[in-house]
Amino acid sequence: MSNHYREVLQIIKPQPVIEGAGVRLKRSIATATLDHLDPFLLFDHFGSGNPDDYIKGFPMHPHRGIETVTYMIEGEVDHKDSMGNSGNISGGDVQWMTSGGGIMHEEMPQPCQREMVGFQLWVNLPADLKMTTPRYQNIVFEQIPEITREDGVKIRVIAGEVDGIRGPVTDIFANPTYLDISIPPNGSLSYPLQRGHTIFAYVFEGQGVFGAGGRQKGEMVTQPRLVVLSDTGFFEARATESYVRFLLISGKPLKEPIARHGPFVMNTQDEIQQALKDLRNGTFVKN
Ligand code: MN
Repeated sequence: MSNHYREVLQIIKPQPVIEGAGVRLKRSIATATLDHLDPFLLFDHFGSGNPDDYIKGFPMHPHRGIETVTYMIEGEVDHKDSMGNSGNISGGDVQWMTSGGGIMHEEMPQPCQREMVGFQLWVNLPADLKMTTPRYQNIVFEQIPEITREDGVKIRVIAGEVDGIRGPVTDIFANPTYLDISIPPNGSLSYPLQRGHTIFAYVFEGQGVFGAGGRQKGEMVTQPRLVVLSDTGFFEARATESYVRFLLISGKPLKEPIARHGPFVMNTQDEIQQALKDLRNGTFVKN
């Protein structure tokens, strides 16, 4: 009989990188260690108490073929784009952006008194949706349900379903789950996820044991770390003397060829060349 609990396959230590116009961040997916985790193409953690680390931001830049998901815990990011949208993503808000065939946008973190904390995830689009019309789902703090269980475990449901409560981000091809979970000292969580879906946890506060259950002892993980888990069985996590807070993210793998070049992720090199050509010719943005 196969394992009933998801096992820890890999624990990734985030790498410091400088991105955009000079933003210091911690990257766990899209590195030499982990190029991608189908359907996830990149995972960045912004976390700094020093505005010099992020204030230069991400001035106007293109995307094609992917979705970018920004989740802010603390701090604010101003954004505007080629569709005429503009606004602000602040503490507890999520922006799920589908670049489709082409979008130009800027993402500018604003100076923050406290520590700025946020995440950006890139989700791949299948071949037949790579050139789709761009769109946004802007979800503010109040729209995200927070479940508090009897044992004190708190779960913010951004996408997916927990205890019959659905998150506000819907209609995404990868059928993602995106949860922000806090487990108090000595608490635990067991959660069923779709068989065959890729799953990872990103621990950003405290420490906890991941991948325990059945005969598995699991592994103690201290922030900041990304934990890759196997694709079958229950997800299991528990806290010991410290609490633990982490994102739990899953999605359906595409199993399609990946050709990537900076902000473009397509299926072939020809499609990448086309994106560069469209950019040069001023025909990149179609909608
Ligand atoms: Mn961007």
